[in-house]
Order: sequence, then C-alpha cells, then structure tokens
Amino acid sequence: MAMTIPAKDPRWSMSSTEERPTGAAPRALYSLPPLGYSYDAFEPVLSSEIVELHYTAHHAAFVKGANKAVADLAEARSTGRYDAIAHLERNLAFHFSGHVMHSLLWRNLSPNGGGAPDAYLAEEIDRHFGSFRAFKAQLNAVCMAQGSGWGVLSWDPLGRRLVIEQVYDHQSNVGRCSPPILVIDMWEHAYYLQFRNHKEDWLRAYWQLIDWQDAEHRFAAVRQAGIGL
Ligand code: MN
Repeated sequence: MAMTIPAKDPRWSMSSTEERPTGAAPRALYSLPPLGYSYDAFEPVLSSEIVELHYTAHHAAFVKGANKAVADLAEARSTGRYDAIAHLERNLAFHFSGHVMHSLLWRNLSPNGGGAPDAYLAEEIDRHFGSFRAFKAQLNAVCMAQGSGWGVLSWDPLGRRLVIEQVYDHQSNVGRCSPPILVIDMWEHAYYLQFRNHKEDWLRAYWQLIDWQDAEHRFAAVRQAGIGL
C-alpha cells in the first residue's frame, strides 16, 4: 500500500540537537530522513515493493548500525576497551556511509525525473567529461563493475573539478575530500526483485528517474565547500 511520510514529523529530523555531556554516547544521532513521495511514486519504472523494502529495511538498518557504532565507540572509551576500536571504526564507516548514500539516493530521484541537466551542471559536465554522452558512458561503466557498491558523481574541491567515483560497499575506493552530488545504488537489493540479474536494465531505469534539479542544487552547494588546503 502506498504511504506518504509527513515531512514535518519531528521524528524524521536528520540529527538531534539535544544537549548532551561531552564524550557521552548521543541518543539517536542519526535518523531516517523523509522520502517526500510515496513508495509507488516511480511505478512502473521502479516497483513500490523495492522502494519500500530499500527504505524501511536496508536504509533503516544503516541508520541503526551508525547509531550503534557511535554508542559502541563511546562505551569502548569509557571502559578502556581500545582493542575493539578498529572493528568499531569499520562498522561506523560502513553504516554511516550507507546512511549518507541512501539519503542522497532518495533526493536524487523524482517521479518527474530523467533527461539531462540543462543548467550550469550541464556546462560543467561538458567541460570535465567532454560531453553528457561521455559522462553517462563513464558512469555506466563504473556502475557495471564487479561487486557491490555505487557509481557516484562527486565534486573535487581541491582540483575544482567534477569526478566519477566507483565506491565499494558504501565507503571504499574514493578520494578523501569529494562530496557526492549524484549516486547510483548498484547493490543487488536496489534492483533484484524487479530486474533480477539484469543490471543494465536497472541502470536504464535509473537514468529515467534522476532529478537533475536536485543534482544542480547539490552542485551549487558543494562548490561553496572548501577543505582549507
Ligand atoms: Mn541500497
């Protein structure tokens, strides 16, 4: 059944602003952001079943895992159990990045999406990749690579250029300072119920759903960011 989550519901805020003692484990630091559309918003291109499961099971698990990793790190500090730190840091990187990437994913999609960017992002894609066609071909090639992960369009604030990244899992194989603008989820849970083993069909569907206005808005925001180098 289709369901729309109210955008104003305080439970969906991205982070808590509650005061808490320095060094203590925060309570529910991260939470599921609102989708802003119903689960069936992308039918028939992308099934309601996939969107609901992806959001309520997979994304929710990354939120839970990120909060747990933060709490576990605080406990490790308070009990002096630093032998667990490497494992906990890996957990935090995996779950936190999973949360960020899925939050971006939902923003990058629109029932009225598809086509190509037509503003400043379009000019910059041409400048950095030669053409939109070449950009799409490179991003598709990254998405079709072996294993689970993401194809991502990011901004490199050091070289001040757009870059395409192949992200293993949610967090690996990327430069340290590049905020993502557009993400494509190539984990099997993102498409398998509908597209089975046909990754190329999932990719074709995805390009029909991209919200280029969101990408343009995000591009404008990340261009303001510097890393002080
Ligand atoms: Mn996913």
